[in-house]
Amino acid sequence: MSAAVAPARTETVPSATRGLVEITGVRKLFGATEVLKGITLTVEPGGVAVIVGPSGSGKSTLLRTINHLEKVDGGHIAIDGTLVGYEVRGRRLHELREKDILRQRTEIGMVFQNFNLFPHLTALENVTEAPVVAPRTDKPRSTKEEARKRGLELLDRVGLKERAGAYPRQLSGGQQQRVAIARALALDPKILLFDEPTSALDPELVNEVLDVIRELATSGTTLIIVTHEMGFARDVADTVVFMDEGQVVEQGSPEQIFANPQEPRTRSFFSKVL
Ligand code: ADP
Ligand code: MG
Repeated sequence: MSAAVAPARTETVPSATRGLVEITGVRKLFGATEVLKGITLTVEPGGVAVIVGPSGSGKSTLLRTINHLEKVDGGHIAIDGTLVGYEVRGRRLHELREKDILRQRTEIGMVFQNFNLFPHLTALENVTEAPVVAPRTDKPRSTKEEARKRGLELLDRVGLKERAGAYPRQLSGGQQQRVAIARALALDPKILLFDEPTSALDPELVNEVLDVIRELATSGTTLIIVTHEMGFARDVADTVVFMDEGQVVEQGSPEQIFANPQEPRTRSFFSKVL
């Protein structure tokens, strides 16, 4: 970073108006290609937003901007009132400090399509590794024993306490994904992001993972879920967001979006997948 760059700041948004996640006019370019063309989306605390849309529409990129895996080129994202994104009122924000990025990342759990477990660690170690190594900076670092106890509780929550000592290769895809969910929960995140969590699974293993996510949804965890499982979306979503070509084409309750879509692009998509 050059000496000309002003000190980083964490700007806050007035609390009276804020959702837990506020995405405002977010743009993202890869080279000359604009893959997010001004996305605006608010998720309330405890809310469940399900994002659907064709492949290549920018769903994964949007999730990745929320978690700092991609920088945005316009607009801004606030998590619990703290800005993640860049541009505010036409003024480019300074780079967030590495420390702030790390802190925000620990507040946001992410579960990927391909589980991404550490292959050389047991299920329990996969879950406990994060809180021991990279704890949330606003919470005391847990001891090995505390992390172990909490890890077993989390494995129990996803129905895998008995498999605590198993390595990922000894677990089915559905079990691995449930460990990945337990691991994401270990940091006690403010929000959990799921990017097609069941797309890599054999059909008979999909439901065990969806059931765990369903339980999270009903227990008040704030979730943003990208999925092609439309029945599941209808069940758990407070808001369904239909994305196409880098834009939110239509957004509403599951009833509105599935039963009465207004936009031709939404109707066309559902006519293929439902
Ligand atoms: P979705 O998750 O909806 O399938 P993505 O967010 O993965 O869509 O991709 C949106 C568009 O951005 C696609 O055209 C994809 O090829 C492109 N894209 C994604 N990641 C990159 C990258 N790192 N570099 C260049 N293009 C990318
Ligand atoms: Mg994707």
